[in-house]
Amino acid sequence: MRRESRFLIIGGGPAALSAARAYRDAGGEGEVRLVSADVDRPYARPPLSKEFLRGEAGDDDLPLVEDSFYRDREIQVSLDDPVTHWDIAERRARTASGETVQYSQCVYATGAEPQRPPIDGADHPDVRTLRSAQSGRELREAARNARSAVVVGAGFIGCEAAVSLSRLGTRVTLICPGPAPQHQRLGAEAGREILGWLDSEGVHVLTGTELTGIDRGHRVSTDSGPLPDTGLVLLATGVKPRAELAERAGLATDQGRVMTDEQLRTSAADVYAAGDVALACNAIAGRRLPVEHWGEAETMGEIAGANAAGEHRRWANAPGFWSVLGDRVLKYAAWGDGFTEAQLIRHGDGAFTVWYGQNGTTVGVLTHEADEDYERGAELVERGAPLSPRT
Ligand SMILES: Cc1cc2nc3c(=O)[nH]c(=O)nc-3n(C[C@H](O)[C@H](O)[C@H](O)COP(=O)(O)OP(=O)(O)OC[C@H]3O[C@@H](n4cnc5c(N)ncnc54)[C@H](O)[C@@H]3O)c2cc1C
Repeated sequence: MRRESRFLIIGGGPAALSAARAYRDAGGEGEVRLVSADVDRPYARPPLSKEFLRGEAGDDDLPLVEDSFYRDREIQVSLDDPVTHWDIAERRARTASGETVQYSQCVYATGAEPQRPPIDGADHPDVRTLRSAQSGRELREAARNARSAVVVGAGFIGCEAAVSLSRLGTRVTLICPGPAPQHQRLGAEAGREILGWLDSEGVHVLTGTELTGIDRGHRVSTDSGPLPDTGLVLLATGVKPRAELAERAGLATDQGRVMTDEQLRTSAADVYAAGDVALACNAIAGRRLPVEHWGEAETMGEIAGANAAGEHRRWANAPGFWSVLGDRVLKYAAWGDGFTEAQLIRHGDGAFTVWYGQNGTTVGVLTHEADEDYERGAELVERGAPLSPRT
């Protein structure tokens, strides 16, 4: 089967959906095809480690838009059918089912996939990862039958899932390679706060500990010794951008991501990249930034879709991220590629702000119950304001 298609979107996450929406909103005409490897239509991933895992949200809460959205905007969606071949010179993509799609404009938004550490037993089928709604359903089912769990990795997803599992009544051990969760990304001050929260949620955190092996999916060993057998092992050990198809097709990549300019244009004419898979140039930062945030995937998708329809928008804001650990919300706006100083300011009743600086310039802000600082902080980051002592 061969179909003519004007606007092709490869991917089925928030960046892909935003691209489709923005293309139509900007007056983009012709056929719009969204081709996804996922079995589900675009849905919310953030609840998978939070309300969905705890059973407070169900399948019906996940879709990002109603089915009528696609009908009304004439957006055709193919599911469970990844693009496997891509001929950029011919502007043609082929899917696993053998369908060929010809396009005039294309957005590449294939996101990222969980990365399993290269240790014995990490690929055992009972060892879980969390990315798709399907993996979320499987994790929730496995959690129902487990009295204890080991979560490996103390990034946002590992910490969120650990708290959710603990709230389900599961005895949770979190393996954290650094001295505190998020130590490298957010600094020692923020790490200590998160550690305190995890402790208060009943999560047992093994800091400074490395995973060394997993036997038969339930016996975890670390560099400080073996852990008791557990009913559930979840690897939250980072993600790998899905850039292989783009690389094979000849798009320029760096750090395993597809390079773009400020308008999210790739090295190929009329091909844009957006979301976790993109290494986009931020117009204000003046450099390319790897970003793995939900809101940024939506923003980039929107820019790419509008530009495919003929606009000239630029990616020009400080990337923002929210994380929810049980009931505690962390908000983070930052360039995210390093800092040399971090100042923690307490506001009372547990509220705090951490200001991040790079050689005297504000490059990030992290807040808990300090929304004004979050809003102000994003603006200071974008302005490159001096990092002066703040209260
Ligand atoms: C459990 C969890 C909780 C999270 N919580 C937060 C949060 O609280 N806040 C936050 O900011 N971020 C959060 N994130 C991160 C956020 O979900 C990602 O940054 C965001 O989903 C990236 O969007 P994307 O569209 O770039 O890629 P993805 O959402 O990964 O979507 C990519 C899509 O492309 C499809 N695809 C891949 N290869 C192909 C192919 N060859 N052909 C066709 N389709 C393909 C995939 O099936 C998928 O549907 C969370 C992530 C997870 C997993």
